[in-house]
Amino acid sequence: MSKKPVIGVTPHRHKNEAGRLQILIAEDYLTAVTRAGGIPLMIPLGLDEEQLDGIFSLLDGLLLTGGGDMDPQSYGVQTQSQLIFVDPDRDRVELQLSRKALDTGLPFLGVCRGHQVINVALGGTLYTDISDEYPDALQHQFAGEWPRDHLAHSVRIEPKSRLAQIMGTEQVDVNSIHHQAIRKLASALIETAHAPDGIIESTILPEHPFGITVQWHPECLQAYQPMRALFRAFVDAAQK
Ligand code: MN
Repeated sequence: MSKKPVIGVTPHRHKNEAGRLQILIAEDYLTAVTRAGGIPLMIPLGLDEEQLDGIFSLLDGLLLTGGGDMDPQSYGVQTQSQLIFVDPDRDRVELQLSRKALDTGLPFLGVCRGHQVINVALGGTLYTDISDEYPDALQHQFAGEWPRDHLAHSVRIEPKSRLAQIMGTEQVDVNSIHHQAIRKLASALIETAHAPDGIIESTILPEHPFGITVQWHPECLQAYQPMRALFRAFVDAAQK
């Protein structure tokens, strides 16, 4: 039996009630990876470039998770919009890991913030707040009181795209827990799914063994076969 692939999973930094900083990952990312046949490996923050390279060398795949907003300076924008949980150290860590994955052909899956990080790593930009900057947008921010598996809007997947093949459908209902979105798509990426208002909900990096990003949270929708299939395809690519 071949060795199970090791999937690096990026975390977020959280200050608890006692003021102590913690490095955390929502468990559903880890169970989604495990269920798909991978071994999740938590990647810390606060490591220097050499230490991160050392961890990267252990990985068969990279899962970039959801979380707070990127610092808009990372894509050259100043904004008056209200930002959420900006952590420049997390930006630095994830941009370095992303660039390594892009350069080396390491399979990656970007979720929500991770979808945005890959776009920024490749030279794209973001709407810093959809409701401020995107006229006639649907509601995309179902945070807080809403259950994380709330199906907020549909997504149309490009027919015959790799995502449509993997998920076995060209239309799917998704959760939506984001107030930012891709503005300028990086030239290397192809948009493969859209919300009804035109917001880019998925991209693929062609010519890469597995480079897919989604704006929704498939790890919270594991009750649905297409969402399990997405993690399965990612882990299978990491196995190769
Ligand atoms: Mn959405």
